[in-house]
Amino acid sequence: MDKIGLEIHGYLDTKEKLFCNCSCIGKKPNTNICPICTGQPGSKPLLPNAEAIKKSIQIALMLNAKVNLIENKKKLVWQRKHYNWPDLPKGYQNTLSGTYAVPVGENGKFQGIKIRELHLEEDPASWDPKTGQIDYNRSGTPLIEIVTEPDFTSSEQVKDWLKKLILTLSYIKSLDKSSGIKADVNVNIEGKSVRAEIKNVNSISEIVRAIEYELKRHKKEKPQKMETLRWNAEKGKTELMREKEIAADYRFISEPDLPVIKLTNKEVKEIKKNLPESPEQKMKKLTSKHRIEKKHAEILTKNLELVDFVEEIAKELDIRKNIHWLTGELLRILNYNKKTLDEVEIKVEHFAELLKEVAKKTITELKAKQIMNQFIPKSFSIKSRKNLGKISEKEIKEICKKVIEKNLKAVADYKKGKKESINFLVGQVMQLSKRRADFKVARKILEEMIE
Ligand SMILES: [Zn+2]
Repeated sequence: MDKIGLEIHGYLDTKEKLFCNCSCIGKKPNTNICPICTGQPGSKPLLPNAEAIKKSIQIALMLNAKVNLIENKKKLVWQRKHYNWPDLPKGYQNTLSGTYAVPVGENGKFQGIKIRELHLEEDPASWDPKTGQIDYNRSGTPLIEIVTEPDFTSSEQVKDWLKKLILTLSYIKSLDKSSGIKADVNVNIEGKSVRAEIKNVNSISEIVRAIEYELKRHKKEKPQKMETLRWNAEKGKTELMREKEIAADYRFISEPDLPVIKLTNKEVKEIKKNLPESPEQKMKKLTSKHRIEKKHAEILTKNLELVDFVEEIAKELDIRKNIHWLTGELLRILNYNKKTLDEVEIKVEHFAELLKEVAKKTITELKAKQIMNQFIPKSFSIKSRKNLGKISEKEIKEICKKVIEKNLKAVADYKKGKKESINFLVGQVMQLSKRRADFKVARKILEEMIE
């Protein structure tokens, strides 16, 4: 059987780095740096970023992992993981992983895959081997590492699972969306080949490619030595970095300059209490409480802002009856404008007000669609605007008269039996009425007038 395991690295979405006050976001190289994150001799770390620790606990809880507590005699001790590389000026990385370390969480399970452990660590700088230049903006930013058991059996399963993981973590806003994820992937065929580890694969699609390539190679070559590989995306193949019989010696020691993190049950309970609902919980609410079809609920739960918005709307009106406005129109105008809901200012009260007027039939659907387009970038109360409501039958009649006079050819066609010409005439009425005529009424009047 094919066996695949992952070590996923994600950037935590925090304002500051793990052991200094530098910002995590810097566009120009080496602009958010200080003596601590550039590893100047004699510099000492500040107290670890509490926000990063909290987010790592949130992630552990979302992945149903056991959080390690001081009450269970588990102290989280920062380790120094030593290695020499140009991206690591102080010669070691501070991490909560390693031979003697206690991870933030362990023994979790997410979507059928066991989570061995998850821990927090700092990212090294980025080094460009071609130019020799180092950018320290990333140095010291908090990383979460999630280690799964080798429970996956196909690349397709890995892909679906990672998508679900990213979606779930987006609900707690814990991962930095712009940075994406990277992963070390281990692959082997049970009883046939020895595990190979592919380091640092950068996106879901590359992870899938790397797994497929490596599984094929294992079937053919059946490697019997543990190998560490890198993924060459351009050539679409793995390349040997080193053969290893034993784990590399990182000379782990406890960090003398950082305090032990003593998590208590009370602190974890507090975080758990404030944990937002997961995509599955939202899905269940939409389908059972609001009785929305699964296919629509799936669309809505793909995005936290959207599902929150819909839940707020549900307090005002029956979202089941209005579902096409939410999964259809709202998403259409957002896509058309290349915006997401959190990038625009559409207020629940304005959106609900519009749908209520449509339901009362005081405003035409066509007009409502037009108004919704105008809700980007900022919504407004339709009561604050004049001339949006439906026009009277008398007004429609006057417009119909004008349309007939101006379009004698279409009228003649209709009389000759070309019944679809009426659609053109109705369209003219809608245009002249600025979409405020009820099109069914307009059609009826036109038919009567022509006959
Ligand atoms: Zn710094």
